[in-house]
Formats: sequence, C-alpha cells, structure tokens
Amino acid sequence: MQSHQLTRERSTVWSALTERELQDVEDVTAAYKYYLDHAKTEREAVALAEAMAKGRGFVPLEDIEAAKAADPSLPLEGTKLYVKNKDKNILLAVIGSTPLTKGCSILAAHVDSPRLDLKPNPLIEKEQLALLKTHYYGGFKKYHFANVPLALHGVIMTKEGEKITIALGEDEDDPVFTVTDILIHLAKKVQYERKTPDVLKGEEMNILFSSIPDLASSEKERVKLFALKLLHEKYGITEEDLISAEIEAVPAGKARDVGFDRSMIGAYGQDDRVCAFASFSALFELGTPERTSIVFLADKEEVDSEGNTGMRSDFFSWILARLLALQGETTPLALMSTCMHSWALSADVGAAVNPTFPDVHEHNNAARLGYGIFLTKYTGKNGKYNASDANAEFLSSVRTIFNNANVKWQIGEMGKVDEGGGGTVAKFLAKLGIDTVDCGPALLAMHSTFEVSSKADVWTTKRAYRAFLEHSR
Ligand code: MN
Ligand code: MN
Repeated sequence: MQSHQLTRERSTVWSALTERELQDVEDVTAAYKYYLDHAKTEREAVALAEAMAKGRGFVPLEDIEAAKAADPSLPLEGTKLYVKNKDKNILLAVIGSTPLTKGCSILAAHVDSPRLDLKPNPLIEKEQLALLKTHYYGGFKKYHFANVPLALHGVIMTKEGEKITIALGEDEDDPVFTVTDILIHLAKKVQYERKTPDVLKGEEMNILFSSIPDLASSEKERVKLFALKLLHEKYGITEEDLISAEIEAVPAGKARDVGFDRSMIGAYGQDDRVCAFASFSALFELGTPERTSIVFLADKEEVDSEGNTGMRSDFFSWILARLLALQGETTPLALMSTCMHSWALSADVGAAVNPTFPDVHEHNNAARLGYGIFLTKYTGKNGKYNASDANAEFLSSVRTIFNNANVKWQIGEMGKVDEGGGGTVAKFLAKLGIDTVDCGPALLAMHSTFEVSSKADVWTTKRAYRAFLEHSR
C-alpha cells in the first residue's frame, strides 16, 4: 500500500472546486447572508424558515392530518410538512417511502443566539438619561456588546392581547442603541483590575435609550416620561405593556464578506443559524427520500435546551407521534421503535483554530477554517463529563456517506483536554435512543458579535446534510 493510502490528509475545500462549484458557493452563501440579515432572533429565524418552506410546497401538519382523516387512502410519500412551536421552534419534514418505525433521518440545529434580553421592568432614568436594563442570554464576553450599534427585535403583547412586532435598528434610517463602556481616561480604578468576565458586569449592560426630557412635566423622571410618550405615540403601548414583552438587543447591521479574497462571512448569530440554513436548504432539495427526513430548529440551546421550545421539551416526540399516527401507528412502542432506528446530526458549529490563539487546541483534533464540515464525536468537558458520545458504528456510516458524496470533512474536539468545552442538543436526541453526532462548520470568534465562517464550509455543510438525508440505510 502507498503511504498516502495509509495516512489521512486533510485538504482545504478550495483546492478541489470546479468553476461551477465556485459559482454555487457564491449562490448558496448569498442566500445564507440574506437569512442572517432577516433572522436575527429565534422568532425571526422560525418565521423566515416557515415562509421559505411554504414557498416550496410545505404545508402545516394539521392540514395533512385533516386531509388524511377525510381520505384514509391519501398517499403520504413525499409529503412536505411543518409544525411551529410557539413561534420559536419549528419542525420541517419530508415523508419518506419506508414506514417511520424503520427510523428517520434528523438534522437538529438551533436558532437562538447569545444576546441581551430586556428585563421585565426595563425602562429607568439615571443621570437624566433613559436606559434599558438587560439580562444577558447565553454565554459570551459581555464587553463585546458594548460600544456597538444594537437593534431591538421582538414582540410586545398589549393588555388587549395584541401582538406588536418590533425590529428597530436594522434599516439605515432607523436609530440604533448602544451600551456605553467607561472611557479609557477614567477606567483605571474602576475597571483595569477586573477579570475578563467582569470587564463589564451584568448590571452594567444598560442600553442607552433616550435623552430628551418631557419639558411639559414637573415630575422627577422627565426623560423616562418623554420616552414613554414616544413609545405610546409609535406603538400605542404603556410601561406595563413592556412587562409582557420579549425584546432582544442584537448587533445591528448586515452580514459582510470578510477578507480580500471575499472567502469568509462575518456576522452575528452564525452559531447556529449557519446550520439551520444548511439544514432546511438541504431538505428543500429532496425528492421523496427513503427515510422520512426531519429538520428541527430548536430554541434555548444556548441556555441548555430548557423550556417548552428547547430540545429537552416533549414537542419533538409529540410531533413524531403525530407523524406515526398518520401511518396508523399509535402505540408508545411505535414511537420508541422509531427513535431507536433513527439517526441524527446535531447540526451545530465547531471552533476553528484561531491563528492568534492556537495553543488552546490540540492540532490533530482541531478544526481548520475552510477544511470542510467538522464532526465532533463527543462534547462535554473534564473527562467527557455531560457528553453525548457517538458510537463507532454510527460514525463509520456518517464518514462513508460523506466520502461517497465527496464531502470534505474533519473530526476532532473543541479544544485541548481540560481547556474548556461546551454542550449541544446532541445528548437530548441521544436520550431518545437516536444515534447522534455533532456536525457543522467551524467558526472563528464564536459567540462574539461578529462571528466568522468560511464560505467553502457553509457550502460543504449544506452538501453534507443533503447527503445524510438522502442516504438509504
Ligand atoms: Mn453556542
Ligand atoms: Mn451552537
């Protein structure tokens, strides 16, 4: 055997692209940037995925259930459907030609990202300026969110039950908001001795909201009052309406090409909208797969998948049960059998080696930007604690699928042993008996306000996911 057949060499995706593929990279990533620009929150990510799915013939599961009830002989193969869960989580599926109990193929990505959430009582006045109090969501270096233009996205429910949707700060004519850090001239005593997580503390993440006082009023907090007057004028809301609101402050602005060669994309929220985008894009390209193909876009991954829209919720199993009922299977045994025969890619991002900080990685087991999709056999930290560990048999299948589809892939861990770590939705899928492995592109500056991906990796990820869904077992 030749030495090159014995050793495994990784190579960059860019080394093997045809002219046509290069054009496809540009086309796919242009659509991806559009998704990033219009899906800055989990609600927006779900709404846009739903709109795109509808445009491709996907219909609500309720409609399929009604049609099947009216005509039990209705064929289901190739049926494209979706179900939304409280506007923050969505499941999309294409029904396959084999029964669900033989197992399905699942891509599970998440659409929530680290950000600043407004507190229940957000609006205060301090030093004659109106501020919005926040509670940060997910793990990130809080100081990243200071001194950058922020946009406010979310919903406000009025006491009459009307839902007002807000996205303020994205249009060029919109005002933006910002968290103001202390100037360097006066920072020495108050800030220089602080440790990194406390460069700005949680209670210091206050958003500058307005500065004009209500001159007609003799009350104490005239700036806050004027802000409330403006809010009432624009949205018809009062201070109490802000309590039943979910407003997220996220970095304002659009995704940008990065690099002189335009080979990368810089944007907020690529963890994990890159995998969400690649997942539904792959699903949209399917005809009738052999195995039912499911794309699950979860909320709350960044806070350990809790709540009724996170991967730990029973929503996923409930929808599987409803899909099984369409095929006449209504027993708990059928549901468990389906899970035990199913496969999933926990579609989430990896950490690419940062050339400025290479030493946190062990290089044989680290992801390189532009070298294709990155498999993570196990996550967790400190002795694989809390890890979902994909078994060798399943990894063998995935690697063969990728090799047969000419998909460039790499495999490893996030960082050196005991250097740190993280978790994904993988273990919650695995808990159901589903064979699961983490698999997605690697990013630079993950969880920052401007994460960087490689266009080649985004393109490869979509191809990898499609190959996985199309594989017949
Ligand atoms: Mn994350
Ligand atoms: Mn993630």
